[in-house]
Amino acid sequence: MKKLHGLGQNFLTDASVAAKIAAAAQIQAGEEVWEIGPGIGILTREILAYQPKLTAFELDRRLIPVLNKKFPNQLQLIHADILKVDWDELTKGAPIKLLSNLPYQITSPLLALLEKHYNSFSTIVLMLQKEVGQRLAAEAGSKAYGAITLRMRIIFDIETLFEVPAELFEPVPKVDSVVLRFSHRASKPSLKNPEMFYRLIQLGFASRRKTLRNNLKSHFSAEQLQRLEADSGISLSRRAESLNEAEFITLADLL
Ligand code: SAM
Repeated sequence: MKKLHGLGQNFLTDASVAAKIAAAAQIQAGEEVWEIGPGIGILTREILAYQPKLTAFELDRRLIPVLNKKFPNQLQLIHADILKVDWDELTKGAPIKLLSNLPYQITSPLLALLEKHYNSFSTIVLMLQKEVGQRLAAEAGSKAYGAITLRMRIIFDIETLFEVPAELFEPVPKVDSVVLRFSHRASKPSLKNPEMFYRLIQLGFASRRKTLRNNLKSHFSAEQLQRLEADSGISLSRRAESLNEAEFITLADLL
């Protein structure tokens, strides 16, 4: 079967890696589990070993009969684009464990959906492009640190579990991969002004090379910025990439 490049069809070839991904979700029998993009089922088989209530979403119509034949009556297979299904409707009910060897071209919109629906998921185990994994795990001050780091980490504890070299996929992609586990952050910081927190992150990183002041000056008055700097004790001559989460929260709460 010809692989569809546009669908990110790089299939994992090593069952022991698939077994490690499935094990990372700590699935109990009967638990509700989702898999995105089962492909020809290498990870699906390992997930099913834990006897969950599995729903898998696969966009490539040709793979549906292949999967149904491999795993008769063992899962609910939905032929759909995961970005287009009704998440509000489908996530009703028990907290879900989500696993995926992700088609990399849907990473950004999928992370946005997980951010919105995080309450419906107890554990998420994703194989992602290594570079994206580095961004999600980055610390303030590093090149990989950015808006997506802050947005995801204010909700999730994100653990980098292990790397997977490109050679373990067929066809071999141009990038290496990494497996991450997302769980709810035990104590989420309280934001007085969540909208402003998200706006500040977006504006602050709009141009990475610019100082905060320059990124913010067309959105706030000079007096506002002067007062913000004085009240927070945070210099607006700094760049967004040097600010940690607590400093962004301080600024957002004051604005
Ligand atoms: N899980 C398999 C494995 O580990 O070998 C396949 C992973 S492959 C990287 C990604 C899979 O996601 C492919 O089977 C592809 O057809 C499917 N896919 C791509 N875009 C999708 C989408 N928007 N919704 C659901 N499935 C999608």
